[in-house]
Amino acid sequence: MSTTVTYENWRSISGTFPIEDETKGARAVLEWAYNSYSKNQIVYASSFGAEAIVLIDLIQQVEPHAHIVFLDTGLHFLETYDVIDKIEARFPSLRIERKQPAITLEDQAAQYGSALWKREPNKCCELRKVIPLRETLVTKQAWISGLRREQSPNRANTEFINRDEKFKNVKICPLIHWTWDDVWSHIRKNDLPYNILHDQQYPSIGCFPCTQQVLADGDSRAGRWAGSSKTECGLHTR
Ligand code: SF4
Repeated sequence: MSTTVTYENWRSISGTFPIEDETKGARAVLEWAYNSYSKNQIVYASSFGAEAIVLIDLIQQVEPHAHIVFLDTGLHFLETYDVIDKIEARFPSLRIERKQPAITLEDQAAQYGSALWKREPNKCCELRKVIPLRETLVTKQAWISGLRREQSPNRANTEFINRDEKFKNVKICPLIHWTWDDVWSHIRKNDLPYNILHDQQYPSIGCFPCTQQVLADGDSRAGRWAGSSKTECGLHTR
């Protein structure tokens, strides 16, 4: 275990993973991750979007009892909760945790005013996503994320294994080389359940007040916080 990569004992190893296989390195990265950290030290923070479905399928092949956390803001689409139910039924050995913020929506409205997401979305994301993930990661050495390089310019330099300054953790991104077509090819080939909103021009799905359809070709995250300068929920920014 002395060679385990941790935030404190950081070394860059992303270049050591072969990427020529069918999973473009994802399988090798996950095997390394679940061999390096005990299953209590590593968690996959999942949005249950399309990338998440692929990652969950690959993870359960490597660690059938993996811990997956869904940041349940209380503001997700019913279709998102539906796909979580379907994934639980398909892979019952996984430990899927629906983590809610300490502050309820009612208390948030009383303290900050109603519809905080319209006035101060960064504060809303902090309360309902960032703080809950920080609470989860306090006991973890590494977390997995479904970031892909082609998703947006902000993500173009993401590595397989990243030193996560925000959460003082190790962030593992097995899908960095996957394209949107790769994701859907894997889902269809393996007949995996997915959020049906993807069939209604929602390429990226977050909370319903901050997610819109994307009616033109372009940035797959264009429907997130549309009309504002915000592009990230804060989990992947410093
Ligand atoms: Fe709030 Fe919108 Fe962030 Fe969800 S995505 S936590 S509703 S600001």
